[in-house]
Amino acid sequence: MAAAREGGITAVAVEDWVRSRLPAQWLDAVAAGDGPIDPAVAYPEAARVFHAALCERGWAVPDWPREFGGAGLDHRDAATVAAVLARYRCDLPGPYFVSRTLIGPTIMQWGSAEQHERYLPGIAGGRDIWCQLFSEPGAGSDLASLSTRARRDGEGWVVHGQKVWSSFANLAGYGMLLARTDPDVPKHAGITCFLLDMSAPGVTVRPLRQLTGTEHFCEVFLDGVVVPDAARLGPAEEGWRVALSTLGAERSGLSGDSEAGGVALGPVLARARRSGAWREPGARDRLTDLLVLERALEWTNRRAGVAGAGMSGAAAGSITKLAQSELSQRIAELDFELAGPGAAYTETGELTPAAHGLLDSRRLTIAGGTSEIQRNIIAERVLGLDRELDPDRGQPWSRTRRG
Ligand SMILES: Cc1cc2nc3c(=O)[nH]c(=O)nc-3n(C[C@H](O)[C@H](O)[C@H](O)COP(=O)(O)OP(=O)(O)OC[C@H]3O[C@@H](n4cnc5c(N)ncnc54)[C@H](O)[C@@H]3O)c2cc1C
Repeated sequence: MAAAREGGITAVAVEDWVRSRLPAQWLDAVAAGDGPIDPAVAYPEAARVFHAALCERGWAVPDWPREFGGAGLDHRDAATVAAVLARYRCDLPGPYFVSRTLIGPTIMQWGSAEQHERYLPGIAGGRDIWCQLFSEPGAGSDLASLSTRARRDGEGWVVHGQKVWSSFANLAGYGMLLARTDPDVPKHAGITCFLLDMSAPGVTVRPLRQLTGTEHFCEVFLDGVVVPDAARLGPAEEGWRVALSTLGAERSGLSGDSEAGGVALGPVLARARRSGAWREPGARDRLTDLLVLERALEWTNRRAGVAGAGMSGAAAGSITKLAQSELSQRIAELDFELAGPGAAYTETGELTPAAHGLLDSRRLTIAGGTSEIQRNIIAERVLGLDRELDPDRGQPWSRTRRG
């Protein structure tokens, strides 16, 4: 929790605001450390009213400028708000993560004044859900090798291709799309970014069933989709630079206290105290270990957000994303173990919260760039080791080997 400072926002003030707007059962569940609360499911009406107030106040995107629907807070104050919302599990639900953490900041950085005005208030106001149309069946870790093509056609572009693992594409009104616009230059140089209307003719979305039984991400097929040039984000053929902004924001976003970012230890500790598991020395040792790591990560995240603190931008996100995702998996594993054999089975076949948490945590070391890729980035940019060998480096994309 950020320390209060003169003129700054205090956690107590945010907490008072939050507590006065959440129903008593919600507060009780948080205090008891009950499993993950999905507000939209557990208390849908209360969640709707709360989230409307949150957006109205600008706290859905606390560090965005007021003109775009944010609260104009600096990094520390915004972190204070985010930490309280995470503690009370009352931030905007998962589908908004992509919109406000990845897409909004990228539009802010690269968009025209018209694009700012058109797209940002809908994100800040919790009205528009976006998806990130980057990964393809043959381009994940090596994203720059993507094959979806956009060809110039008069005033616009025509897009053909396929995307995959697109989170919330089945709920999204818009997508941020990367497409190859020049195949005859090296792979990073021939990509352009577009802001796609998901209701355009030729867009087909198919949800994919995940390990937990939920359908959180999708395949997206693009078959002759016409995109106006006004929906291009940034200059043509500069899409890789635009994508780097999004990927950097994603890594930092997946490092924080947000629901998308990981598994918090607090509720696990509360459950261990309640069940008596805390009294067992082995369990207590492991819980203490994780608590120390969680605190260290919290402070590292804070350092990463403070300019001049000695952690450089892109690599800082890789360090904290790697640490957060691997720590989260350890917390989820311990939670499942402490819940005992009953956590593995139910008469109805539904997953218990601990089993759901365990299975769900597997995604964290893949989404937003796998742990291996984060280690590569850290090796090259922090430790200064040699770059990975790439036999296709400098070759036009059309002459490279692709998976
Ligand atoms: C929950 C979830 C949500 C996602 N949401 C989105 C989304 O909204 N939009 C989107 O565009 N994508 C999304 N993704 C896709 C995600 O970005 C990719 O899954 C990820 O980048 C890995 O790509 P891949 O799945 O193609 O695996 P691959 O790149 O095929 O990798 C397979 C394995 O090889 C390893 N590997 C690959 N290259 C190297 C290397 N150079 N050095 C060492 N090891 C390597 C990887 O670490 C991995 O273990 C999501 C993924 C998940 C799990």
